[in-house]
Amino acid sequence: MKSLSTTLIGIALTLTVVSPFTAIADDDAENTPAVNASQQAIDIAHKYPIVDGHIDVPYRLQRHWEDVTQATEKGDFDYPRARLGGLDAPFMSIYIPADRENNGAKALADVLIDQVQAIVFRAPDKFALANTADDIRSNFSAGKISLPMGMENGAAIAGDLKNLEHFYRRGIRYITLAHAKANHISDSSYDSSKIWNGLSPFGKTLVQEMNRLGIMIDISHVSDDAFYDALDVSQVPVIASHSSMRHFTPGLERNMDDKMLTALAKNGGVLMINFGSFFLTEEAMQWGKHYKEAKATFEKLQGNRLTPQISESFNRAYRKRFPYPYASVKDVVANIDRARKIAGIDHIGLGSDFDGVGDTLPEGLKDVSTYPVLIDALLERGYQESDIAKILGGNVLRVMEQVEAFAAQYSKSSAEE
Ligand SMILES: [Zn+2]
Repeated sequence: MKSLSTTLIGIALTLTVVSPFTAIADDDAENTPAVNASQQAIDIAHKYPIVDGHIDVPYRLQRHWEDVTQATEKGDFDYPRARLGGLDAPFMSIYIPADRENNGAKALADVLIDQVQAIVFRAPDKFALANTADDIRSNFSAGKISLPMGMENGAAIAGDLKNLEHFYRRGIRYITLAHAKANHISDSSYDSSKIWNGLSPFGKTLVQEMNRLGIMIDISHVSDDAFYDALDVSQVPVIASHSSMRHFTPGLERNMDDKMLTALAKNGGVLMINFGSFFLTEEAMQWGKHYKEAKATFEKLQGNRLTPQISESFNRAYRKRFPYPYASVKDVVANIDRARKIAGIDHIGLGSDFDGVGDTLPEGLKDVSTYPVLIDALLERGYQESDIAKILGGNVLRVMEQVEAFAAQYSKSSAEE
């Protein structure tokens, strides 16, 4: 085993002969897909609504705009591939990076919501907005793809419940309470400083108000203590929009452990399994850790010579030397199996994180055209069609309906007072 410094010197040497202006081959060009699955799996994918808890299209377009109503060169999502895969309701992630806390978070959220609306306005024959489970079902019947919205990071609420109502009116139907850092609402799984030991006092009020309005609480990304706080406060089921099982990634607080999943099932909630390899296997998780360390050291060595091109060249060189240990479709099934064993079939969904996890997706599950590949693997594993339908979307639609019913009941009873 070579030491880290030897490796870094090796990569630095490789880079000296690679001009930063060398054209970077586009390995994302995969716009002529073919679904490698059985007819039975393809039929199931189209027979039931597929609701994906988390797809990062808006932020992807923010960085590199393409018209996703047509086939695109890059990315994991576009209309033709979504159709091919039978995807019906991808939750568009209104993603606010953690450093936007107190720094333009609300404006960014509004711009990203505009992005989603623009997709629908550009192609109203293909896409439709969706505020309720019913909207998703009727768009499905009408042959349109719904674009419901979830906000990833409550930073945009900026401590003001008026903003919560604003975003409810704009169509936000779940909020991931925090992202990579603790914010004014909650501690984060990725942040070692736990400033609230769970939810903040405002965070607890916010959860109650989300119940009242009918916005789902998303506990992906929050710390364990914040998860239990959210369960304590929420009167309706919550979701994990894109997390997997910690059993397979020991120590990764970002995923759910068995005890948490048992509590989530008792709450009636749904864990939507993330497809990113580092959420699925320990090997990919460890690769990610080592990569981050090496990259930080490399960037330090580069100092102010560092450019995005050099950084990209480092990625390539590192991956060449240490090939990425992609998970397989079987690893996704193993996570689903584990969740089923702990929580039961009614508490599992899919939160692929397409367009959000870069080049870490499992072999065979590279974009939104591939849901039938996963369905095939579930059939092979002995899952009944009715169970698969629950995983694809039935379970999360149930939670949406429960959340909507609670909010409707609440506004009715407060109108009677
Ligand atoms: Zn995320």
